[in-house]
Amino acid sequence: MIPTSFEYSRAKSVGEAIKMLSDHGAQALAGGHSLLPAMKLRLNQPERLVDIGRIPELKYIRREGGKLMIGAATTHHEIASSAEVKAAIPMLAAGAGHIGDPAVRNKGTIGGSLAHADPAADWPAMMLAVKARIQLTNDKGSYTVAADDFFIGFYMTALKEGELITEIQIPIPEGDYRSAYAKFEQPASRFAIVGCAAMAKVSGGNFSDVRIGFTGVADAAFRDSGLEGMLNGQPATAATIDAAVANAAAGAELLEDHYASAKYRAHLARVYAKRALMALL
Ligand code: FAD
Repeated sequence: MIPTSFEYSRAKSVGEAIKMLSDHGAQALAGGHSLLPAMKLRLNQPERLVDIGRIPELKYIRREGGKLMIGAATTHHEIASSAEVKAAIPMLAAGAGHIGDPAVRNKGTIGGSLAHADPAADWPAMMLAVKARIQLTNDKGSYTVAADDFFIGFYMTALKEGELITEIQIPIPEGDYRSAYAKFEQPASRFAIVGCAAMAKVSGGNFSDVRIGFTGVADAAFRDSGLEGMLNGQPATAATIDAAVANAAAGAELLEDHYASAKYRAHLARVYAKRALMALL
């Protein structure tokens, strides 16, 4: 399949990219692993692509003031193989290592994945569980949005026209925090038919500060506050988890497609919430 014709420019800096994006019909290109397939299917027909994939100021992973800072154009592979990420929050490196295949991980970026907000993407669930903040930059400057407020609906985010995601800021938990991501993956693409990211403090034998992020289950990734409430303050045991996950994704408007019915997705939500939570024990 061949996309409609378009202009291509490569930005050397964030400032230059923001200027180029103000052109009519311009759209950012990062790894191209979601945008280019959509263009080939003619679901998306930008007039100009502004390549931000090689802007050095968008490619970094560093620890700063108790936070992990990740530049938006950092690839899934760079995150999967980062010693800094593995040491701070191992779930993120492990989760990144299960995105797509090596070609996808070597080109696809965390910023591109968050901006695209595919309802089956892995990063959104993990970003919710770690309480990430997403930095957005426009011609007036930068501001941050909590992951909780970023994913609005089906391929919809809080990102406004002409803005770029520039950084992902993740608080590094101190003390007895544990995290895990478990997904039932589509066998060819590895997108999550259902994915569950769990993070919690496990101390004195009890769960606290539990955060559960789901992807693949509904139109957009979401925190399961009902499930979190059933775990907070409870003994960190298999029995607690068993009882709580019976209510996993309760109240969510479940997706239904050729991969899974709503009923099967509800079942998978219980199974994968249990797997992620059991990994915390
Ligand atoms: P692009 O494709 O370049 O861009 C995607 C969208 O985001 C575009 O609208 C673009 O304008 C916008 N954009 C990009 N960067 C920014 C930015 N910094 N600020 C604002 N807007 C921006 N994903 C998973 O989560 N799990 C999987 O298992 C998985 N498997 C895959 C398998 C295949 C075969 C393919 C092709 C893709 C798969 N993906 C999967 C998607 C992959 O992770 C993409 O890389 C990702 O969704 C988009 O990132 P990108 O850098 O390629 O963005």
